[in-house]
Amino acid sequence: MNLKILWMYHDLMDLYGDKGNAEVLRRRAEKRGIEVQLDTCTIGEEKNIDEYDLFFLGGGADKEQNLIFADLLQRKQSIQTAMDHKTAFLLICGGYQLFGQYYKDQDGNVIEGLKFFDYYTVAGNRDERCIGNIAVETTMDGKTFKAVGFENHGGQTKNVSTPFAKVLSGHGNEMHSGFEGFMNEQVLATYMHGPLLPKNPDIADAILKRALKKRYGEVTLEPLDDTIEYQAQNVMLERLQCK
Ligand code: GLN
Repeated sequence: MNLKILWMYHDLMDLYGDKGNAEVLRRRAEKRGIEVQLDTCTIGEEKNIDEYDLFFLGGGADKEQNLIFADLLQRKQSIQTAMDHKTAFLLICGGYQLFGQYYKDQDGNVIEGLKFFDYYTVAGNRDERCIGNIAVETTMDGKTFKAVGFENHGGQTKNVSTPFAKVLSGHGNEMHSGFEGFMNEQVLATYMHGPLLPKNPDIADAILKRALKKRYGEVTLEPLDDTIEYQAQNVMLERLQCK
C-alpha cells in the first residue's frame, strides 16, 4: 500500500506551521508500513492532480492568496477530475477560502474562488480578526472528539452548508459563529492552524483513511501510541477550559 500526497503552493501557502500537517501524515502512514510519496506543486508547475490521493493546501496572508489564485483557478478542471475520482482534500484557512465562491480581502479586492462550494468569505475591518487558540468538537468516522488549534484570519466565512466542527472556545468561521470550517466526505477545510494535525491524531488518521480510500477502499489503521499527542492536546483543552 502506498500514499501519494500533493502539497500545493508549499512555498507560499504555509502559515503557522501548516507544513507540519504533511510531515504528520507522512510519519503516521510510514509507522504503519505505508510508503509515502510527498510531492509539491507551486505556481507554473505541472502536476496531474488526479494521480494523488490527497490534495493539501495550507493557509496564506492576503498577499499570498492574491499571488496564487490565478494559477489555482487554471487548475479547476484538474481538481474537479480528482474530486470526481474521490481524492481527499485538506484545506487550511486561506486554502479553505479559495475553494468557495470568493474571498473579499482586507482592501476590498475580490479574489475569485474555485466555486466548488457555496460558502464565501468577506474580511472584516482591520481590527476585526479572529485570532487565538481554538478548541472544537467534531465527529469523523463515527467518533466524536475534541480538537485544538490556532486561528488568525480576517476572513468571515458565510453560508457554510456543512461545518467541520462546533466551536468550544475561540471563533471559527466568523467572529461569533459557533461553528468552524467545512467538511464533506472528501474535503476537510478548516481555519485551524497550529499545525492542525500533530495535536489531533484522530483528525490525522481520519484524513489518512480518506486518502487511502481512493485506491484501496475502506482501510483499518492499526492504533499508534498517541500518549504525547493527547498530552499536548490536553494542555490546550485545559488552558481553554474545554476539558
Ligand atoms: N488571508 C486570509 C484571512 O486573513 C487567510 C489567513 C490565513 O490563511 N491564516 O482571512
